[in-house]
Amino acid sequence: MRVLVVEDEVDLARAVRQALEEEGFSVDVAHDGESGLWNARTWEYDALVLDLMLPRIDGWTLLDRLRGEKDVPVLILTARDAVSDRVRGLNAGADDYLVKPFSIDELVARLRALVRRSAGKASPVLEFGDIRIDTAARAVKRGGEPVHLSAKEYALFELLALHRGELVSRTTIYDHIYDEGDDTLSNVVDVYVANLRKKLGKGLIETRRGQGYILCSDPSAGRFSSGTR
Ligand code: CA
Repeated sequence: MRVLVVEDEVDLARAVRQALEEEGFSVDVAHDGESGLWNARTWEYDALVLDLMLPRIDGWTLLDRLRGEKDVPVLILTARDAVSDRVRGLNAGADDYLVKPFSIDELVARLRALVRRSAGKASPVLEFGDIRIDTAARAVKRGGEPVHLSAKEYALFELLALHRGELVSRTTIYDHIYDEGDDTLSNVVDVYVANLRKKLGKGLIETRRGQGYILCSDPSAGRFSSGTR
């Protein structure tokens, strides 16, 4: 999952980035509203963490301009007791809020819930065939046995699982599992896919040459039933 953090308090932004990266998120940080808006328009994020009081463009304006273009889930950060700020943010199209100072654990849990809801999956557990993904614990089991995935393998698998039965383009994959600081080679995704097939079953992920990948909705059926969710 790739998250954009728009926060002008540099220390707080750094702490949030570090904590989210430890939890397996790819994170970009913008320190003012203008560059935040540019990032949000340019990349495909799974969620935005948006401070409201920002230089150049404030959080409400950013949200207002973004909402006509993208429905990425947005979690706003507000000052304590600023009820009117919160209401204004939610009215402007924010999906959730946290009051500063907040606990990083709560931020992570709320972000995960937001991303799940936006993918139409309310439960933190995704199950199909004999595979079970616990998105809260970032743990995968196959036939009841734990499967060990690297951070990027997990990120790719979760992305495909949230959109199973749908074609996920390579561009979408790059946007969601890497951040701006990652230096990647284009064939790395193929390596992750090969590893996932090895660990989770050969027929699980279908390659559409030149287009992207589809996670089989029901691996036990041995064929793809596209369009089902
Ligand atoms: Ca601020």
